[in-house]
Amino acid sequence: MPKSVSRSRIAGVFGPAFGVAAALGLTLPALGAAPDRFDTVIVDAGHGGDDEGAVSPGGLYEKDLVLAVAKQLARRLAAAGVSVVLTRSDDTFIPLEQRTSIANDARGDLFVSIHANATRDPDVRGIETFFMALDASDDHASRVARRENRAFGERKGPAQPGDDALMAIIGDLISTGHMEESNEFARLAQAELAAGSELGRGVKQAPFVVLEAVQMPASLVEIGFLTNRSDATEMSSEAGRQRIVDALVRATLEFGRRYDLRRGIGTR
Ligand SMILES: [Zn+2]
Repeated sequence: MPKSVSRSRIAGVFGPAFGVAAALGLTLPALGAAPDRFDTVIVDAGHGGDDEGAVSPGGLYEKDLVLAVAKQLARRLAAAGVSVVLTRSDDTFIPLEQRTSIANDARGDLFVSIHANATRDPDVRGIETFFMALDASDDHASRVARRENRAFGERKGPAQPGDDALMAIIGDLISTGHMEESNEFARLAQAELAAGSELGRGVKQAPFVVLEAVQMPASLVEIGFLTNRSDATEMSSEAGRQRIVDALVRATLEFGRRYDLRRGIGTR
């Protein structure tokens, strides 16, 4: 576990089954019977260190903005009784592959990657949420994926169909229902973030490296355009970031409620 990973675990959320499993030296899945309650969320702040991400005309860097939002989101979710793992908690570069191992090692129930958008047209603004797919839903989604995938050293640009390892992962995602749940979280986040405004730009699909090997429902949220003056002003303000965090908390808790219901687990 890298030094930059911070954990905030709430004691008791695992219940008695976990205690038995721990005493026997078993992991929960080995017991077979205990359903997987929604209790662990991986919050991934995009970029970091030399990888600065997008930048606003006023000099607000994506890496700093999304770290502030991620930490605030982690605090709020922990206060709501959810166990949270941050893939980075300071201004450090964490390779995309390492972010997915952190998530899988922690056996997260949801992976939320937080980013801010950029485009050449300064009039474009709003919220976009993505989930993993081999094919981008449109040219713009494909450009967003190319930009966010830049931190992935070995393979520049989006993954190509025919990549066997990737196909296996996609097959796994489909068979385990992660695609459907990823889509569900993306829709909840999009609806909450864009509520009461006309800033919703929709849920899109694109081949994001950071999402592809994550063994849990996963979504990448672009919380606004740093290249748009209004969006940048909103994201620069404490109140604006608070609204974004509030929306993500609501989406996460509602997703968790549905997640447990589907698995026959009642509310806590
Ligand atoms: Zn980004």
